[in-house]
Amino acid sequence: MAVERKNFRRFTYAEYVSYLKPFITKVKFSQIHVHGTWKPTIADYRRASDKVEIIQAMWRFHAVTQNWGDIAQHATIDPDGYIWEGRSLLEAPASAVGYNDSDNDRTHPFMFEMIGNFDVGAEKLEGAQLATAVKLTSHIAKEWKLPESQIKFHREMNPAKTCPGSSVNKASFLELVRDWRDIDMSPTDANKIISTWLSPAWFAASTKAEREEIHRLANELRKASGQL
Ligand SMILES: [Zn+2]
Repeated sequence: MAVERKNFRRFTYAEYVSYLKPFITKVKFSQIHVHGTWKPTIADYRRASDKVEIIQAMWRFHAVTQNWGDIAQHATIDPDGYIWEGRSLLEAPASAVGYNDSDNDRTHPFMFEMIGNFDVGAEKLEGAQLATAVKLTSHIAKEWKLPESQIKFHREMNPAKTCPGSSVNKASFLELVRDWRDIDMSPTDANKIISTWLSPAWFAASTKAEREEIHRLANELRKASGQL
């Protein structure tokens, strides 16, 4: 086994959604497994001058120390809300014993980690990191047609763990996933609204204030469709 692994690419949420597209026909995600790293912590991540080293250290621990063949997870969400690539999406994850479905039939759970110690009294899952976790969960559930019952926290599969962290409430997380799905919009639809309706209105606007309002609305559509 090679001890040095490659680079890990870092994606924005919108870039990751495009990256996932060809995999919709190549792999069947049966569940979504939600984890928090506990270690590295958010503070560890903030301290690292080269962030990729945090991902590489996880890879080294999983692949070499634990002998799991590769980094355990398919994706890692950092405290700034970026998504780092993990093991191949075509491979089963090393998520929880008995739940990995690792029989190589291209059907297995999608597993992601959120960097941080989210136990009560430690760090908080919030802001851009929480937003990406919610949007990613919602997106995978939608594209792979998974009911809410197939979204699993690690602690549900291994009661000895608090993972993704005792401060992360499952019901609240699912509520965000549900609410986000309601306002989720495809970039194609958003751009259609912008080019067909908002652009002509912008050029027809008679005041600067009107143009600014139209510009703001266009950006709201870009946000809702994951482009900003
Ligand atoms: Zn876990």
